[in-house]
Amino acid sequence: MQYKQLTSEEINRRIRLRKKRRIARRKRRRRFISLLFFLILICSILLIRSCNNDFKAKTENNTSLKPSLSKDRFTVCIDAGHGEYDNGTYNENLDVYEKDIALDVSLKIGQILENQDINILYTRKDDTTPWKSQPDSLKGRCDISNNNNADIFVSIHCNYYDDSPKVRGSEVWCRFKDTEDEKLAKFISNNLTMINFTENRGLKYESEKKLFVLKNTNATSVLIELGYLSNNKDTKYLKSLEGKNKCARAISEAIIKYKDLINEDEQKL
Ligand SMILES: [Zn+2]
Repeated sequence: MQYKQLTSEEINRRIRLRKKRRIARRKRRRRFISLLFFLILICSILLIRSCNNDFKAKTENNTSLKPSLSKDRFTVCIDAGHGEYDNGTYNENLDVYEKDIALDVSLKIGQILENQDINILYTRKDDTTPWKSQPDSLKGRCDISNNNNADIFVSIHCNYYDDSPKVRGSEVWCRFKDTEDEKLAKFISNNLTMINFTENRGLKYESEKKLFVLKNTNATSVLIELGYLSNNKDTKYLKSLEGKNKCARAISEAIIKYKDLINEDEQKL
């Protein structure tokens, strides 16, 4: 093989060419790094936005969205606490289970509201449940409400206090202050007080005690403890037909009052 003798002009030309290529390579690298930075920046912005939206959605969920009457029929999900293998609390003297009082009162509320053209969803209509464990049961109850876009979720229970049979009264639990839940809870608490069968233990907030069905439902949600089954007077009243009827009427009227309030607010808009 024969090597060609390079002229100094040719050498300079090649040096210039190599230099040009080096500069072009450097430019390409710079352009690539800038593009990479730009993409990272865009991804970060999108990620922050999505986190913010998630947080916003959760916050709105916690405070519950105001129901709207302009959509389909107003829907109330009535959750009779416990059921089947899960008796809830029990009063030995009067032989009455919480699950039975909760069911009777729930069915009566449903009947009253159905007559007002309100769509009713029950989490159970008798002493059977499709769920075989408590976690499944609590999740299942929330799913019924959420999957059907219920406007209101009302869970019916009775209380129990081991340390004193004297403790009595009704309580209405809601999530936070100044929310739709609280408005509904106040109406229900006031109406139960008007029956005057027991003490009014007032509104209770979910921050005091974690309640799965309040935390995990999208509707305006409340949990009602009608009275104490550890107290014989409360139990006797809640076991009686009159007691069940009056409690159901009080709760139903509070729900109707809340629905009317939304109606008035919507008409103002
Ligand atoms: Zn209960």
